[in-house]
Amino acid sequence: MFRQRGALLRSPGGNVENIVDQKPIIRWAALNVGGEVARDPARWDRQRDLYAAADIATFPWLHCHELADIDFLVSVARRWSSPAIGLNIEDVVLDFRQNGVTLEDIAQRLSDWEGEIHMPTLAWVQNGQGWASLRRAVAALGVFADEQPSIFPTGVPDPRTIQQLVDHAFAEGLTKVTLMYKTRPPNLPEHYDLSLCHCLYTADDITPTPEAWAAWQHDGKERPPMPVKSKAEPSTKAKGSTQAGRDADWHTKPYPTNPNPPDVAFVRPLYPPDAAAKSKTPSLPGPDVLAFKRALSRAQRFLPWAPDEWDDTYDDVFAHGEASEIERSGVAGFQRQMRIRATGWISRPTFEALRTSLVPPKPGVAHAGEPLFDSVCIRLLQQAAAVGPTMEPLWMTACKPLRAKHDSGPRTAASIKHVVIHSTEGGTAESNARFFATTAEASTQLVVDDKECYRCVPDLVIPWGAPGVNSDGLHIENCGFARWSREEWLAHDQTLRRSAAQAAKWSWQYKIPRRWLTVTELQSGAKGFCCHVDATQAFPNNSGHTDPGPNFPRDVYMGYVNEYYAEIRAARDV
Ligand SMILES: [Zn+2]
Repeated sequence: MFRQRGALLRSPGGNVENIVDQKPIIRWAALNVGGEVARDPARWDRQRDLYAAADIATFPWLHCHELADIDFLVSVARRWSSPAIGLNIEDVVLDFRQNGVTLEDIAQRLSDWEGEIHMPTLAWVQNGQGWASLRRAVAALGVFADEQPSIFPTGVPDPRTIQQLVDHAFAEGLTKVTLMYKTRPPNLPEHYDLSLCHCLYTADDITPTPEAWAAWQHDGKERPPMPVKSKAEPSTKAKGSTQAGRDADWHTKPYPTNPNPPDVAFVRPLYPPDAAAKSKTPSLPGPDVLAFKRALSRAQRFLPWAPDEWDDTYDDVFAHGEASEIERSGVAGFQRQMRIRATGWISRPTFEALRTSLVPPKPGVAHAGEPLFDSVCIRLLQQAAAVGPTMEPLWMTACKPLRAKHDSGPRTAASIKHVVIHSTEGGTAESNARFFATTAEASTQLVVDDKECYRCVPDLVIPWGAPGVNSDGLHIENCGFARWSREEWLAHDQTLRRSAAQAAKWSWQYKIPRRWLTVTELQSGAKGFCCHVDATQAFPNNSGHTDPGPNFPRDVYMGYVNEYYAEIRAARDV
């Protein structure tokens, strides 16, 4: 269970809006039962039901200070028939040791708990406590960088320190170790290596919007933080091959040029997480990233050679390297050597430099004189090209939040049946969102134009969009006019695509069939897509609106919805 990511929720009955948004990010949720459960079990049952409906497992967790707390935690888990308990015993010395209780006593107390044990602890587990007695537990080291200046002086976790924490936990006798990241700002998803995290603390700090949750998504492979044995460096005694022409100063001059460079195309620029501060969208993982890790390792800038341990994430360390070590200097190190601006970003000039360079004549390197892109790199780059030019799909793009003034309160995900399409009759996404936020006697979930998307009302809140399809409809306003011709709509392809991408996401999340409903079907409550004008015909006391007009290209729109839906499925059904 703990190989998949989950979250600790701190607030009793807390942030439960839009649980469907959490589903791609977490597979389990631990509910803090800090005594609250005894006082108000109904509140807990409601939250557990909501998570169960979203197909996310739940179990209780408690910050235990004495053995009686552990008994209480287990009793709640038994009452809930939970698969696990969340045993928080972070300060063993203060909470237990000074009362004469050891970790062995705790393990003894848990001996008849047959379920799994998730154990949040301090980042640096306390020395010499005998952690081996709790080796059946999955220890989640709490990385709360903003609160741990003695461990993370910059306030941002760095991989080397993380590795030390993990190594220490293993050295103290724990055998199952993962990391727990704090989600409350100033801690941000881009500060973390999400491939190493199996727990978010505490997820009720994440704003309950799909965009805020999506930021914590990691699409690549998750890996256990097992102790990394440093791989043997490539042998310094080259076997048989000549050492003539070797050059210890290889790193002070540009790489040798390949007169016959491999014929492989540039797929996309790559930006690491910290490029977000410079208004670049950090890149999604992809096979091309692995190709570059491989090439940069051959270039002696990303050692040790460990293809089995690399992942497909374009992370900050790979992009910028680690200070002062030539062999760990990453993309930026290569750029400096090639006299390219050392951004750590891979754009076309850096790609071309990699494509046309050879493995340097460093003494002892086995593949000197071969292209940096070997046959495996080329295959990975071809794979990435096959995925298509748009590797950052529109449905991943965050909508800007601007809360509308009016709504009719919360609803459940199960009540949602329709996607309802409108046209704004003027303005931009921003100006319409502002109108909804201030003076309009109306509201909508989303409003899109050629440039961007605004989020005005959460999915699980009923908007004032079109009478008859408000309580069961998700509404999207497209900037345009009901009087437009088909050609005029098609000229705003980005509006149609941006809108369709969001509608596809809804279709996936709320299981809404991707088809246009007839007026009769709409009246009978069938699930599917409709336009405001259909609602006007189906429910005669509607406002009389006829948007988005007779020429709205419903066929093209649904084609886009189907395209994006296929992408979403491919990305999420794994
Ligand atoms: Zn409308």
